[in-house]
Amino acid sequence: MNSDCKEKITVDGLSFVPYIRREEIRKEVSRVAGEIRRDFEGKKPLFLCALNGAFIFAADLFREVDICDSNIAFVRYASYQGTSSTGEVKLLTGLPDNIEGRHVVIVEDIVDTGLTAQKMIADVKSKNPASISFATLLHKPASSKTGFTPDYIAFTIEPKFIIGYGLDLDGKARNLPDIYINTED
Ligand code: IMP
Repeated sequence: MNSDCKEKITVDGLSFVPYIRREEIRKEVSRVAGEIRRDFEGKKPLFLCALNGAFIFAADLFREVDICDSNIAFVRYASYQGTSSTGEVKLLTGLPDNIEGRHVVIVEDIVDTGLTAQKMIADVKSKNPASISFATLLHKPASSKTGFTPDYIAFTIEPKFIIGYGLDLDGKARNLPDIYINTED
């Protein structure tokens, strides 16, 4: 198995270089998992993974949190085309119907403008959960249009376009084990 990080990659004509290595990702996901475990012990949290981008983060986080009585469900929103947000957030699949009375932990890959997070929280709230928390792998506070700050953050990063570990460029590069940053940004 090749576990080396590529030094430079090109996707759709754009160049990317390594930004966050897999060892660092593992370390910070483990830290966030520990914080969630501490806060939700005995509470049967329902993790709500935002597809497609958060599926790898959610899989690692869900296992590391290691609360037997927790559940996971999936939801799908879209706002991005290419390397920028369209500003319009669409719900592409329905919310699960088991949200009422649950402690919901939304799991997102990245909070950029915060518009998707805001819409997700409003949608979940309308289903009467016991509480809503928000965990994200990455946060770009300088891009925020909402002032929203997630409860759990693995990495706070600069406002540049990144790919890998679930994050894509028009569906490509999600499978990269490390996170890469666009050098033209
Ligand atoms: P927001 O609504 O602007 O906060 O954007 C949230 C969504 O935009 C994320 O779930 C991602 O799908 C996508 N996104 C934002 N920044 C990036 C990036 O740097 N790379 C890949 N996708 C991104």
